[in-house]
Amino acid sequence: MNILNVGYDSTHYYLLDITGGKLMVDCGWPGTLPKLLAQLKRKSVAPAELKFLLVTHFHPDHAGLAGELQHLGLKLIQMENQAEGILFLEDFFSQKKEFPFIKVSQKDALHLEFADSRKFLAGLGIGGEIIHTPGHSDDSVTLVLDEGVAFTGDLKPLFMARAEDDRVSKASWDKIYRHKVTRVLPAHGA
Ligand SMILES: [Zn+2]
Repeated sequence: MNILNVGYDSTHYYLLDITGGKLMVDCGWPGTLPKLLAQLKRKSVAPAELKFLLVTHFHPDHAGLAGELQHLGLKLIQMENQAEGILFLEDFFSQKKEFPFIKVSQKDALHLEFADSRKFLAGLGIGGEIIHTPGHSDDSVTLVLDEGVAFTGDLKPLFMARAEDDRVSKASWDKIYRHKVTRVLPAHGA
């Protein structure tokens, strides 16, 4: 799988090849579209190639551009556990009017259940699954590719998730590693 990191500032945004275009994993703060477009240009990706957006969780640095990208024509994949997260994001930016936040349209999103994710991804030409990995937030999800790559968003690294109160994160890692993952691509850091 060809994986491109088109991130900027301190967050990674990944592009994966799918049939007829690309799937984007996470996107940035409202107002950062020019930075994203510059990154795409640098990597020789035409914006029209971006077809789908999956957000690992609806925090501002991962999903702030989601509504704007929907307007650009990307189909947002909304997992079954993410409606609350979208409301959180809207609430967050309703207090921060300085950001040019564009609301996520749940009506225009593709609503997907975890149980159907393998079939959906297969239709895009990807072998893998989207799984629920709470810990950092309840709306957190991880994309796991059968070739052993996991996009874990902000799930706390396993070595930091040893404390008893981190058992939710630990359980999520157990779930991820049941998929024979050999390479973890988090949203921040190496
Ligand atoms: Zn983050």
